[in-house]
Amino acid sequence: MERAIINQTDAATFLRTLEYALKERRNGTSSLGLLVASVENLDELISGFGHRRVLPLLGALGEKLCAMIGADDSVIRFGEAKFGILVKDLKNEGHLVLAANKILREVRRGIDSGGDALEAYMRIGATASCGSGDDPDRMLQQAETALLAAREEKREFLLYEPAQASRLRSALGMAKEIDVAIERGEISMYYQPKVAAVDRRPVGAEALMRWSSPTRGFVPPDVFIPVADETGHIESLTWFGINAAFRQRTDWPDRWGPLSIAINVTPSLVEHADLEEQLNNARGLWGVPADQTTVEVTENALMRPEQCFGALSALRRNGTRVSIDDFGTGYSSLSYFNSIPADELKIDKSFVMKMLDDDGYARVVRSIINLAHGFGLRVTAEGVEDPRTADALAALRCDFLQGYYFARPLPQDEFKVWLKEYRP
Ligand code: C2E
Ligand code: CA
Ligand code: CA
Repeated sequence: MERAIINQTDAATFLRTLEYALKERRNGTSSLGLLVASVENLDELISGFGHRRVLPLLGALGEKLCAMIGADDSVIRFGEAKFGILVKDLKNEGHLVLAANKILREVRRGIDSGGDALEAYMRIGATASCGSGDDPDRMLQQAETALLAAREEKREFLLYEPAQASRLRSALGMAKEIDVAIERGEISMYYQPKVAAVDRRPVGAEALMRWSSPTRGFVPPDVFIPVADETGHIESLTWFGINAAFRQRTDWPDRWGPLSIAINVTPSLVEHADLEEQLNNARGLWGVPADQTTVEVTENALMRPEQCFGALSALRRNGTRVSIDDFGTGYSSLSYFNSIPADELKIDKSFVMKMLDDDGYARVVRSIINLAHGFGLRVTAEGVEDPRTADALAALRCDFLQGYYFARPLPQDEFKVWLKEYRP
């Protein structure tokens, strides 16, 4: 077989190549390794640079992979941004780990093609053929399973283990339980106050979802929200959350004047045709003025500005406030900063929590605040855990503060008590 094939093929062609390699190997004794490497930030790259610049770079990436592998190994691009890498003469699984690390290291350095540099972010799943009964389909399935598990665990590389498949299936099982969980009253909203930095008076609260499952116990939102998002259950969860939060807001003591209520909306729902209607209905039903409702979307939603800017602008025309969540962790471009249809930026807690110990983070926080103010946006800092951080943020003219120092997210009853007893 030739040293490498980099043409784009489909999975079926890839399977035939794999089958051929497996047959060849059966005549010998060594085992065969398969890595499936995926470019994880393809959508971001295309949104940032356009197809015309990104597609040739994918070709260049294939060539770079070819240059890294052994003479008998081969690289095959299948699908838009996936590469299958066959490693022959595999001595042991450690060999696969080394190969994956080498690829990840090289790719991190950037890929050049005709003067363009592309920062591809890759993830790799891998498996090794172990017996003579190996069939190509199963090998590819195992490598893809390892890739999915790597994605779930936010790892750059994972080797296939049978347990991954059952873990992923249990995530699927979880998805089925989510709708039932709403009906059974297992999902509830917690509230975390947001205070003004100048006088520390409460100005609103963020609604955060909690799932207490009789079989799984407490499931953190970091776990079930992504599962719901990938399986289409996020709609019903979000509509439920909006209604529950707007309804419970009517019971809050009005000691601090009208408090705004913030709801988290995943990027996938920002453009959903029903979002606006759900907000309007719930506002009408529970008598919440539009300008006291905020939608928090993560910075990642901005990666497709053409699509989401229109949707966010429409929400704002209707009076809903828009807040860009986890700001600083994602990809945003200065070039469209002046046109972001938002009212507020929320600085991610990872910056806020380290700003007192690390000058670099302090500078990032200061820059975000100044930048946002320059564009007429207000700024909330989340993850404020102590009074010194609160003071430092106030000195930097941050507008609002949120974090454990003021209160953890609290169930409705405890939040009402907090509102009654809190002293700025
Ligand atoms: P997020 O929107 O960034 O929410 C802030 C998270 O930071 C919350 O975690 C909150 O409990 C935590 N937090 C607040 N103050 C502090 C602090 O001072 N220190 C530290 N260490 N953490 C703090 P939580 O409630 O576990 O939520 C995690 C994520 O789950 C949220 O991140 C949000 O992305 C998602 N999420 C939660 N509820 C919903 C929901 O109703 N809908 C959607 N779409 N996503 C939700
Ligand atoms: Ca949030
Ligand atoms: Ca956040």
